[in-house]
Amino acid sequence: MALGSATPAAAATPDEDARLRRRVQTVVESTTQEWSAVFQAHGVAYAAPRVLMLRSPIGHPARGAGYMRELGVVIDLNDMAALDTVFVRNGALEGLVIAHEVGHHVQTMTNPGLTERSQSPELQADCYAGWWLGRAQARNPTDFPLPDLERRLPEMLSLLSVLQAGRLSAASEAEVHGSIPQRLNEVRRGMAAEDPKVCGFSVAGSWHGPRQQTPP
Ligand SMILES: [Zn+2]
Repeated sequence: MALGSATPAAAATPDEDARLRRRVQTVVESTTQEWSAVFQAHGVAYAAPRVLMLRSPIGHPARGAGYMRELGVVIDLNDMAALDTVFVRNGALEGLVIAHEVGHHVQTMTNPGLTERSQSPELQADCYAGWWLGRAQARNPTDFPLPDLERRLPEMLSLLSVLQAGRLSAASEAEVHGSIPQRLNEVRRGMAAEDPKVCGFSVAGSWHGPRQQTPP
C-alpha cells in the first residue's frame, strides 16, 4: 500500500471538496434511511445526527473522524481524501468510517445494553457500520460497491491509524478500538445480519422515549 501518496494533504480544489462533502452526505442519508426503519419498527423516532466536516492537519492531536454529543458526527475530509487516493474511491470503505461514527450517535440515543459478544462501544460501532453496509448493499448493490473488501478493510484500518497517529499510540489505539482482526470480525458480523440486535441494539434506554404515550 502506498502510504506516502496518502500523507500530504494537498489543498483540495473547490470541486473536489464539494464532491467529498456530497459523498459524506450520501452515506449519512443512507444510514438515516436504514436506522429510521429500525427505530420505527420499535415505535421510536430516529433523529439523524448533525454532521460537521472539517480538514485537520496531519499530526493534529484531535484529527480524524469522531462523534461528540454536542457536535454530532465529525468527519475529517483530509482522511476521506486520503482513503480516496489509496483505495481508488472505494465507496464501501469510506462508508464504513462514516457509519461507525453514526453508530456512536445511535449509542447515545439508545444507551445500549452492550452484550458479551460486542464487548465495547467501539466494536459495537463497527458492528453497526457493517450492518448498515449490508443493508445498503441489499437495497442497492451499486450504491456502495465492495471491491475486495476482505483485503481492503484491514488495509484501511491500518491507514487510518497511521493518519491519526498523532492522537493515539498503536497500542492504545488497539485498546480503544479493538485489534484489526476483532474489528473485521465485528464488521462482518454486522454485515451478515438483517437486524442490528445481533450487535446488541436495543431501544430500551432511548432518550427519545416511545412515540406512543400512555394517555393521562
Ligand atoms: Zn469509534
